[in-house]
Amino acid sequence: MNYYSLHHKSPKTTFKNAVIEGLAKDRGIYFPEEITPLSKDFIDNIENYTHQEIAFEVIQQFVGDEIPAEKLKEIIAETVSFDFPVVKVDENIATLELFHGPTMAFKDVGAKFMAKCLEYFNRDNNKEVTVLVATSGDTGGAVANGFLGAKGVNVVILYPSGKVSDIQEKQLTTLGKNITALEVDGVFDDCQEMVKTAFLDEEITKTLTSANSINVARWLPQMFYFFFAYKELKKLNKELIFSVPSGNFGNICAGVMAQKLGLPVKHFVASTNVNDTVPNYLKEGTYNPKPSKATISNAMDVGNPSNFIRIRELFNNDFNLLKKHFSSYSFSDAETRETMKEIYSNSGYVADPHGTVGYLGLKKHGIQKHEFGIFLETAHPVKFLDVVESTLPVKVAIPPQIKKVINNKKVALKASSYEDLKAFLMQE
Ligand SMILES: *Cc1c(COP(=O)(O)O)cnc(C)c1O
Repeated sequence: MNYYSLHHKSPKTTFKNAVIEGLAKDRGIYFPEEITPLSKDFIDNIENYTHQEIAFEVIQQFVGDEIPAEKLKEIIAETVSFDFPVVKVDENIATLELFHGPTMAFKDVGAKFMAKCLEYFNRDNNKEVTVLVATSGDTGGAVANGFLGAKGVNVVILYPSGKVSDIQEKQLTTLGKNITALEVDGVFDDCQEMVKTAFLDEEITKTLTSANSINVARWLPQMFYFFFAYKELKKLNKELIFSVPSGNFGNICAGVMAQKLGLPVKHFVASTNVNDTVPNYLKEGTYNPKPSKATISNAMDVGNPSNFIRIRELFNNDFNLLKKHFSSYSFSDAETRETMKEIYSNSGYVADPHGTVGYLGLKKHGIQKHEFGIFLETAHPVKFLDVVESTLPVKVAIPPQIKKVINNKKVALKASSYEDLKAFLMQE
């Protein structure tokens, strides 16, 4: 399968090169040249397939013959290795819990899939690849875990100092081995900008790639979730509306891809915190990226979402078509806390701030009688312990995955500017 750059100034490239490069030379992100809908027979009989079989059907065309089918199945088995329960929260609303993986964030799936692809592509060369990743919270931990011990791959994680939760920080600063954490004096957008600058810096001779959702191997496996939810909810015989708590818009963009593959989805809601670049765009028609603002749903504190350009492409850059199938709403921290309380008192469900923003999006959009709403629960509430325990009358039990890292010692290098990152990458 070939991929083209959405800036249209770099040549087309293979899946393998798109994974290794991350971003095209023209700074555009990659997009698959063809999207072939899956057979109706598969969609109609999805309940007869296991999660791993579904994942294979969904991703295979995007990998093509660059990874043999048997190997791809192995990679999927390592990636889709935990549960994705659908939990009913209201009469006509359920949540799809994506947080049962090793770091309790939905990004575990994409991170592991990408790590395994990169390891495969690197299998018989001695050149090391350096994965550079900027994180607003959960990416760092998921990438650190997914890539830990990957042969021929070094990982450098940039995170904004003081702007990720304690548990998130532990998850990305305590693993050691091939993982280095850089604590950046700035916000997420500064981290992302430093990563982008490094990619263009010709004085850096290391092979760099990115493990943000701009990387196709991180982004595409997220399509699986929407198929898994459909498998569970098909029997309701209702039209499905997905609400995705969104920051960089990779996850929801994967949902729109799933729809392109033939998944029956009525409507998408991209729910954001006060970082409202996309909701404003849909309202006013002008795309105005802004510096990100810190919120209690910090993994979504993104002022210029990298994947939104892919969503526009999926709707043929047709603003009216986009608006017909896709809505986006923004919510404040106060609304989020209020709603966490409401969900808890109505159903006993403890939602984290990100999932709660997703729930708010469904409520704002409205769910009709013949419809059913699903919001993605993108992180376990334990990852936002301070917010959850200061909002709800609960004590969140610490799951084993978190216990493992919580008492480990943080090791991070400090970076206050691009020059610090560069110096680190230039040393041998
Ligand atoms: C990354 C993240 C998001 C946002 O996902 P995008 O694909 O960047 O839109 C939402 N919630 C949590 C918990 C996350 O870690």
